[in-house]
Amino acid sequence: MTSEDSAKGIDSAGTDRLYTAIIIGGGPAGLFCACRAAGNNRRILVLEKMPSCGRKLCITGAGRCNLTHTGSMAEFTAHYGDGGKFLRPALMNFTNSDLLAFFKDRGLFFTPDENGKYFPTDGTAKDVLSILLAECDRAGVKVRCGEPVRAIDHKDGLFSVRTGDAVYIAEHVVLAAGGASYPATGSTGDGYTLAGMLGLPVTETGPALAAIIIRDYPFRDLTGISFDGVPLSLYRENKKIREVTGDIILTVNGFSGPGALHISRYVRPGDSLHVGFIAATGQDHARKELTDAITDGKNRQVKTVLTEKGIPVRFLLRMLELSGIPRDATCAHLTKPNRNTLIRHLTDFPSTVAGTEGYATAMATRGGVARDAIRQKTMEAKTVPGLFCIGEVTDIDGDTGGYNLQAAFSTAALAADAIASKKTGRNT
Ligand SMILES: Cc1cc2nc3c(=O)[nH]c(=O)nc-3n(C[C@H](O)[C@H](O)[C@H](O)COP(=O)(O)OP(=O)(O)OC[C@H]3O[C@@H](n4cnc5c(N)ncnc54)[C@H](O)[C@@H]3O)c2cc1C
Repeated sequence: MTSEDSAKGIDSAGTDRLYTAIIIGGGPAGLFCACRAAGNNRRILVLEKMPSCGRKLCITGAGRCNLTHTGSMAEFTAHYGDGGKFLRPALMNFTNSDLLAFFKDRGLFFTPDENGKYFPTDGTAKDVLSILLAECDRAGVKVRCGEPVRAIDHKDGLFSVRTGDAVYIAEHVVLAAGGASYPATGSTGDGYTLAGMLGLPVTETGPALAAIIIRDYPFRDLTGISFDGVPLSLYRENKKIREVTGDIILTVNGFSGPGALHISRYVRPGDSLHVGFIAATGQDHARKELTDAITDGKNRQVKTVLTEKGIPVRFLLRMLELSGIPRDATCAHLTKPNRNTLIRHLTDFPSTVAGTEGYATAMATRGGVARDAIRQKTMEAKTVPGLFCIGEVTDIDGDTGGYNLQAAFSTAALAADAIASKKTGRNT
């Protein structure tokens, strides 16, 4: 091997290791970027650390894959917290309709459920993965599994990417290594380390879309009881910092369900989380309704009157206990302070956050490669021309409902289009 060969990444066995783009990570973002960037003799290589690609994709939507959501892209941006504005160009460039059309053109149809979540009409997450792999194959993308990337270097306009066994050279690198949630699928936070090797800032990361654990939790034995359309308010140092509405379910140590998962992106240990269990119609309205019911209840037991309002009896008995009210108390005998405490507990129950279930079961990671280090119209790193960051490795995370996969595909499309048109290094 000559020294020139070595610089170009041609190994002693003569294998050409010089690529147009190396995609690190064979999840939905990486595979979609790879097949979309391919063509016109561009040499694209996907390096996946696990023995097979798309392991997390296969468990999305409990194996059914909630690919995206109904709604306009303007509506979508509200579902990514502070990252929505940054994501706008990606979503506008490759919308939910574009994503659905991509799979429809390849024979996989999607139907929205009653909440607007798109699932395959007749298929599973594995079918989504099969289509991505088939597209990569058709486009001539090389996919190498069982090759964890351990280091990247950037010199003289070329990247060298080192795995356990080899060094590959590329003009572009796409970091699509995912976040740190659900590490059993391969996403263990390597992307942050690799970004750091090239000097990119990474914001504080943590589990998102994870069940919330509550300190001194009083509902341990009520696991499985659920409440619809619950308002949840998060307070830090006595200041309200977030408010969401969604369904919740009581777990053995706290709250899960879409509402709890959504607000979990923002919780920190010590925060106060207020839950309006019986306030789907609004807290003021619920307070008035409960007050009227108790006033009208006269000599009937509070528990009878309120279970008629649809409050699960076991839950109500616990709330009576927490409010210092005997379980057989009648409405007429309820003191005003007792009544007010009970109604406050039902409509605005305060609890202290101990943390979340953590990365092991979190559906997303909050934080990641800093948004202000990435060009919003191409996903290219501002300080490292030719390096792109897409999908969950970036500081973008969305609500449940298909928003995270849409973000992975939309950011992948931007990077692929930039690589295909060589629109890199621009001031976007
Ligand atoms: C249980 C669960 C259910 C979910 N359900 C949904 C849903 O229904 N809808 C939705 O929108 N979102 C859902 N999500 C979130 C969604 O799965 C992610 O947002 C999405 O997979 C992110 O795609 P990605 O390609 O950026 O990262 P990933 O899917 O995490 O892929 C990254 C890939 O990079 C590989 N990798 C990591 N490090 C290296 C390395 N050093 N070298 C080479 N390869 C590496 C990993 O092995 C992995 O294959 C769910 C998540 C979980 C955990």
